[in-house]
Amino acid sequence: MGKVLVLNASYEPLNITSWRRAAVLLIKGKAEQVEHNGKLVYTEFPLPTVIRLRYYVRVPYKEIPLTRRNILHRDNHSCQYCSYTGDDLTLDHVIPRSRGGGDSWENIVTACVRCNVNKGSRTPKEANMILRHPPRKPYSSLHFEVAKHLKSGTHQEWRKYVIGL
Ligand SMILES: [Zn+2]
Repeated sequence: MGKVLVLNASYEPLNITSWRRAAVLLIKGKAEQVEHNGKLVYTEFPLPTVIRLRYYVRVPYKEIPLTRRNILHRDNHSCQYCSYTGDDLTLDHVIPRSRGGGDSWENIVTACVRCNVNKGSRTPKEANMILRHPPRKPYSSLHFEVAKHLKSGTHQEWRKYVIGL
């Protein structure tokens, strides 16, 4: 059974939950159905895929750790210079460390070995290499989760509720 995207009362995506938990929220009147996939779980109760809470929930911002795994995920496991996907991907400092570039979401991208070696200790401009996407900090860990579902081909109906995907 599918997962359900939960929206805050403000329509901002909040989290992902099981369809059972979502059904409970709907039955108790704590949430309203926004999207369903047409499959009936009970009589006249289609399986929800997106619900919206009737009350507003405050969420503290959760910092996403800057790790190799998370950078690769943000960059779709592809070289940000030539779009190569595959094994032996490396992390590249856009402004090289030797030139004062730091460890941040905005300065580290996924690069294949070839591009990384080719770029060396130059900036992309000096090396005449163009970044496919300007690197930035992910919005939230929920974006990460939603992106994973979309990439695996499930829950395409979530896309329109999540900014930046
Ligand atoms: Zn490359």
